[in-house]
Amino acid sequence: MLKLDYARELDKKDQLAKFRERFVINDESIYLDGNSLGRLPISTKEQLEKCVLNEWGDDLIRSWDKWLLIARRIGDKLAKTLLGAQEGEVVITDNVTINLYKLLSAAIDSGRSIIITNKENFPTDKYVPERICQRLAQLCPQLNVQLLYFESDPVYGPTSIDVAKILNKIDGEKALVILSHVDYKSGALADMKAINKVIKESGALSLWDLCHSVGVVPIKLNETGADLAVGCTYKYLNGGPGSPAFLYVNKNLLGNKNFFSPIGGWFSQKNQFSFGDKYDPHTGIERFFTGTPPIISVVAIEPAIDMLIEAGIEKVRKKSNELTNYFLYLYNKHLRKYDFTLVTPQDSTKRGSHISLGHGKALEISLALRNINVIPDFRPPDVIRIGLAPLYIRFIDVYNFTVKLKEIMENKKYKEYSKKGNIVP
Ligand SMILES: *Cc1c(COP(=O)(O)O)cnc(C)c1O
Repeated sequence: MLKLDYARELDKKDQLAKFRERFVINDESIYLDGNSLGRLPISTKEQLEKCVLNEWGDDLIRSWDKWLLIARRIGDKLAKTLLGAQEGEVVITDNVTINLYKLLSAAIDSGRSIIITNKENFPTDKYVPERICQRLAQLCPQLNVQLLYFESDPVYGPTSIDVAKILNKIDGEKALVILSHVDYKSGALADMKAINKVIKESGALSLWDLCHSVGVVPIKLNETGADLAVGCTYKYLNGGPGSPAFLYVNKNLLGNKNFFSPIGGWFSQKNQFSFGDKYDPHTGIERFFTGTPPIISVVAIEPAIDMLIEAGIEKVRKKSNELTNYFLYLYNKHLRKYDFTLVTPQDSTKRGSHISLGHGKALEISLALRNINVIPDFRPPDVIRIGLAPLYIRFIDVYNFTVKLKEIMENKKYKEYSKKGNIVP
């Protein structure tokens, strides 16, 4: 028997429970996809109204005095509170893909020619370097820029041993290693400290994709010696669909005279408003801006960051672990018998805030869940991801989800759904 009272008890003890009221929640759905698109905070709605009606509607062009500084200001706030970096190392700009392109190009310009990543990494982390290498092989084959893949454990993700093994085979001074902090599929949390140590020792650079860890796992970029990072703001940072990403460059690298963006946009110019004839890039992190930022979307990022600061990222992490632990407890007791396989590490210190279950009928099961307003997500070919965003997911949601999934499995209700359905994203 499933124990409802226990879930209620856990919610009663939850110090972060009050944050749920601060999100727009108008329906009865069980939303387990905050790791793909975070919910809308009520304060964001108000902030957007102010930006659209007052700043744009009334003040028009005069608002640019304020808007111009916002992407750098929110970058600084993010740096100091959720990323463990310093002022002047982070900006909000573009999307993760473009930021990866800019940082990889800057690294190649400053002498790196071997890009390394794991085969299991997120598509954009592989496609961007692949395309750069393909293009440079045609344009300047003498540079010999190459992409090397290594294999990592599909559940536990890349380790410092995996990274050391591949770095030992090459000249580290020429290399750059791209890794995800939390794996998008399995939810594995990489040991950033141990991996950065190995990378540093070989003379290589690190580039971390923080999309699935920012806002839910404490990040210590400076302390662990991370060189570069990118991350998005619409998952656990609740910035809304397509809200711009962030980019981090360690201060030491900003001092490198060859480390510049491949895009000479006017927002990256040192004295932007003197409209000079020649491109003269900014000496600070602003050199990685491109053109006009999407102000309405930038504005939408800040309220949830403030909420996370108020809640405290350590407490958010603690609740995230409690939620995933509670789900795994229920899973082992009530769900495992239905031929699921757990594709997320058992140990809570080794995972982020989503749990992935493998199943031969994963798509059909996801469709059956959607049909009753339960929203996890599905990643081909056979993985269901259950995202547990600590600011608005209750223990009772985890309980109810288990009950509903159990019912679908017990009565084989997923059989009514064919593979024709498609619920990506
Ligand atoms: C969501 C996500 C992205 C998103 O990249 P965009 O270019 O901003 O669309 C990148 N990397 C990972 C690991 C992600 O999970």
